[in-house]
Amino acid sequence: MSDLNDIAVVGAGPAGGNAALVAAQSGARVVMLDEQPAPGGQVWRGKTASILLAPVTPETTAGNGLRSALSESAATHLADTRVWDILRNGDHWSLQILRNGATEQITCRSLILATGAREYVQPIPGWTTPGVIGLAGATSLFKQTLSLPGKRTVVSGTGPLVFFVASEIRRLGGEVAAVITPNTRADWARATPSMIGQPKLLARGALWMADLILARVPILWGHAVSEVEGRDHVTGIKTINLKRGVAGLSFATDSLCLGNGLIAQIEAAQMLGAAIRYDPSLGGWVPVADPDGATKVDGLYLCGDGCGIRGAAAAALQGTLAGARAARDLGFSAPSPPVRPWQRAERFGRAMTALSIPHADAHALTTQDTIVCRCESLSRRDISTEITTGATSTNAVKSGKRAGMGPCGGKYCQTAIAALIAEQTDKSTSDVPPPTPRPPLRPVPLGQAAGDFDYDDLPIPKPAPL
Ligand SMILES: Cc1cc2nc3c(=O)[nH]c(=O)nc-3n(C[C@H](O)[C@H](O)[C@H](O)COP(=O)(O)OP(=O)(O)OC[C@H]3O[C@@H](n4cnc5c(N)ncnc54)[C@H](O)[C@@H]3O)c2cc1C
Repeated sequence: MSDLNDIAVVGAGPAGGNAALVAAQSGARVVMLDEQPAPGGQVWRGKTASILLAPVTPETTAGNGLRSALSESAATHLADTRVWDILRNGDHWSLQILRNGATEQITCRSLILATGAREYVQPIPGWTTPGVIGLAGATSLFKQTLSLPGKRTVVSGTGPLVFFVASEIRRLGGEVAAVITPNTRADWARATPSMIGQPKLLARGALWMADLILARVPILWGHAVSEVEGRDHVTGIKTINLKRGVAGLSFATDSLCLGNGLIAQIEAAQMLGAAIRYDPSLGGWVPVADPDGATKVDGLYLCGDGCGIRGAAAAALQGTLAGARAARDLGFSAPSPPVRPWQRAERFGRAMTALSIPHADAHALTTQDTIVCRCESLSRRDISTEITTGATSTNAVKSGKRAGMGPCGGKYCQTAIAALIAEQTDKSTSDVPPPTPRPPLRPVPLGQAAGDFDYDDLPIPKPAPL
């Protein structure tokens, strides 16, 4: 794998998969890498072999289309491959990858990052109790293995995902105890004009709602889960009416799906020098890139949710734009796809993201004793004390308390920490950027990262004469 590729694509979701397809069609030598076993990314995730005969959803159809197009294309797909570091070496990029338990290096002239998003879960009392899973994470369970989070589940969170997850649980035979969403009906009414351009998606949403209403599942608008009950496992949840600030209904349940929108995975782009900006309508901090993915960094292109949360339809279209642009810039003959379809899809995506971002008062749900950084077991009080003693940036809190140095690399705590810094220092969230990213981008065994290192090879200078 040491031969120079024209283009490497990190991520095989709707964005990366389409970027690789278009670039390979132009004649470029393309390699696409993803840590998942099959292309499709989060939304078009492939099912495990044992459930291939499961009911077909629009996501399955779209994913199967991408997988079969890729298998017929000239692009090389490296599955189960983690990219854990990327370096610029002269006129090419070197990607350090972990594959089959060993580290290797891939080189390319141009690099397309299509690394997607991760979800944000607002820390609340009890959110680390077994039985609580991420709202977006729950979709991976359904898609890959058709399994359910529990027997009776409360589904709570922002945006359309909460209704998709609730109706999928019902479709797979589970019971939904309640749907709890910080969004109000008025929030949804405001988003409707931007949704009209995507009638198929609008109709799907209407079906999810109809199913929940017919099944008499309680839907609590303008509410949030304020506390998870249970010591060794979830036994119930309490809610709060966000507008009135008073306790709402409680529900007995054995599982909770909890999520507050998605955040772009920007670490790789940031590490390679792409500028970042704060745009809440795209999920927070995002790298700066043109609609066709070009950046100010030579040979670096970005597409999909990794450069702003716009949804799967926009990600696929932007992948096509970025693949074509990267190929053209290397002198290959690739088409110039129109930008308008992407612009239409991104209008819808932005409206959904606006509904999905955490409620303005969300971090008030994080009490002093609530764990904020799971890896280092740091509570809100621990973080707040650090801020009070002068750590007024995410880098400073990371240095002082190790928040962000655990196995997740800060992926789950940094948004909450930034909100606490902003609140305690009277800054806007847009004045509190994420910490400086450092490799590894993904966990890698130390022995593999060190390579063929031998202590005996260390050049140890002779001791100075006494
Ligand atoms: C957990 C989760 C579940 C979601 N479920 C839904 C859903 O059910 N319906 C819906 O409409 N939207 C869903 N979304 C949003 C949806 O995923 C996106 O809108 C869409 O998939 C964006 O496509 P993409 O190609 O930009 O990114 P993705 O589809 O996220 O693809 C990115 C790919 O990059 C790979 N990757 C990232 N970093 C590395 C690395 N360092 N090394 C190797 N591989 C890497 C990942 O494995 C992933 O396959 C979900 C998002 C998340 C985070």
